[in-house]
Amino acid sequence: MHRWILGSDWTTEAELETTRELVSRLAADTAGRVAACIIVAALVGYAASVLLALVWASLIFVNEFTELRIARQIRKKSESACRWQAPYFAHLGLGSSLWTAMCLTLWTTGDVVSMLIAGAVLLGILIHVSLFYNESRLQTLVTGLPPVIGAAIMIAWSALSPELQGENKVVAIVALGTLVGYLSAGAYRSLMTRETVRALVTKTTRLASEDPLTGLQNRRAFVDLVTNQTRAGMAPILAFIDLDRFKPLNDQYGHLVGDEVLKEVSRRLMQPGFLAAARLGGDEFAVLIAPSDVAGEDQGTILNLHERLTSPIHSDAGLVSVGASMGWAGAGTGGPTVSELFHAADVAMRRAKIERLGVVKFDPVVDSAALASSAIEYALRQAVPDGKIRAALQPIISVSDGKIVSMELLARWPDSGFPRDPSPNEFIPIAERLGLLNDMLWSMLNQALPTVAATNWSLAINVSPSQLTSRLFLVKLSAIVARHHVPPERIELEVTEQVAFRNVTENCEVLDEARRLGFRVVLDDFGAGYSSLAILDRLPLDKIKLDQAFVGELGDRAVTQKIMRATVALAHELGIACTVEGIECAETAALVASFGCDQMQGYWIGMPELVESTAHRIDLAS
Ligand code: C2E
Ligand code: MG
Ligand code: MG
Repeated sequence: MHRWILGSDWTTEAELETTRELVSRLAADTAGRVAACIIVAALVGYAASVLLALVWASLIFVNEFTELRIARQIRKKSESACRWQAPYFAHLGLGSSLWTAMCLTLWTTGDVVSMLIAGAVLLGILIHVSLFYNESRLQTLVTGLPPVIGAAIMIAWSALSPELQGENKVVAIVALGTLVGYLSAGAYRSLMTRETVRALVTKTTRLASEDPLTGLQNRRAFVDLVTNQTRAGMAPILAFIDLDRFKPLNDQYGHLVGDEVLKEVSRRLMQPGFLAAARLGGDEFAVLIAPSDVAGEDQGTILNLHERLTSPIHSDAGLVSVGASMGWAGAGTGGPTVSELFHAADVAMRRAKIERLGVVKFDPVVDSAALASSAIEYALRQAVPDGKIRAALQPIISVSDGKIVSMELLARWPDSGFPRDPSPNEFIPIAERLGLLNDMLWSMLNQALPTVAATNWSLAINVSPSQLTSRLFLVKLSAIVARHHVPPERIELEVTEQVAFRNVTENCEVLDEARRLGFRVVLDDFGAGYSSLAILDRLPLDKIKLDQAFVGELGDRAVTQKIMRATVALAHELGIACTVEGIECAETAALVASFGCDQMQGYWIGMPELVESTAHRIDLAS
């Protein structure tokens, strides 16, 4: 072939003396020249496409290993285009580099066997790479079959060719046979891998949106679906269902029967007319129903569903039955947003449960307070980790010299997004129920302690009984105050009489431990609840805070004045300091001071202010 391309001896023939001979020679080689030109042009074209394919392959390669943004973007930009470009480039790259390599090998060596081996090796490498980027069975066949057929033809040609003799023939046939086997196995494996991966992806996607036990949608998928429905302008009906007596049934008959019941309930929820059904967790379910134009029909559908759900269930343990508390709301009644619709159905369901009503339709008038609390709960889950609960400080002064001795740390939720920012009395119990109090406290301490560290004030923090149940509480508290270089002696833990009602022994142990670590313990809101005076003996205390209920219109209440005076004296007798809170005017302050109390707190002394606004107080303190 190389001899043919180079035109063997026409350059030497150019030295021939007669023009006639030269012209005839040139005329005779025209076909050869044209062929040579075509081959060279093809080689250049191949080289260009090889280059393109290499760029493309290197982008894919880079993307696979480093996830570079540029490569990712190219892939993202037009995924389907890339999908079709990939085999095209693979084809071009594969074919052109193969032919280039084979031509070059033949050209340089003049040996057909070397050409075949070079082609075989290169083809093997290229096909291996390209097969993994195929997207469909058809593409795998399109990319994989031609080289297989080509190699098979070459085997036949090698076997039949009289040019190849002896060893050369055997080497060529073995090399090509190996290649055919390799390509076929590669193509098959590629197909299998793709099928397995595809099956795996399908399964994973299904699992991510499905409850594994019942096959119903899970909470996430259901929320997405409701969101899409409402976005599409539908006003669906959402019903929440909480099974009654499920836990005792589970305990009595075991989990297998419990699972059977859950599966049967799920089957009963999957009704042809319903838009979707989901298991939200445990024994909580939800269904989405398209609203009816006929008045009262929605109510009828829900009541029918309730009846069906509560009818006895056949199980391994015989006939069992569970109750169901259902709450439902239409997008029209619950408000326009998805979260409001969910809150409405949830609130109605809780009322059905508490009042044992079976089925309850959300009522904006009756359920408004519960709806607000549910909305607060929802928002608080995000507000606490986002650090949106801010620390406010309220001064506590010494009665003897009127100087600030301490600051009470109070939680505030500015910019909450509600028409009125919820007060601590509203959101603290919710945070406690959600187990968010500690995170909230750590965040507030990090906000307030730098200010406290810059002064000689103490910091009073409110601690709920649930926070004392973990010994880690004191460990974490100690670590945070130490990080801000505030000695524990300047931290006062305000607890309420609740700590004396339940788990008294454990709570007292934790409070003792707190005092050993250097913290002070203060009894907040003393005298407001039902506790007896024995609480003063029972709890390890450094200070009591008389509740503000004592203080209102104190001037007119002679008996209250006597009680306060006696309480202050009693505290002093026990070696406990006494603070009076809720001081709103100068007269009350003077009266309370005359009782001999040690410290005072109240709006007249200073309002609670966000930490960032307390700079003027630091100036006063220094
Ligand atoms: P508390 O610990 O008894 O706090 C004193 C409450 O009385 C504060 O209400 C304060 O703003 C208010 N107050 C202070 N001076 C006066 C006054 O002169 N007149 C009247 N009427 N009120 C006064 P706030 O901030 O709304 O907190 C209410 C309760 O919420 C607190 O009562 C405390 O039990 C709880 N709380 C607040 N922040 C936190 C916190 O970060 N963690 C915990 N666990 N509870 C907190
Ligand atoms: Mg307090
Ligand atoms: Mg108080």
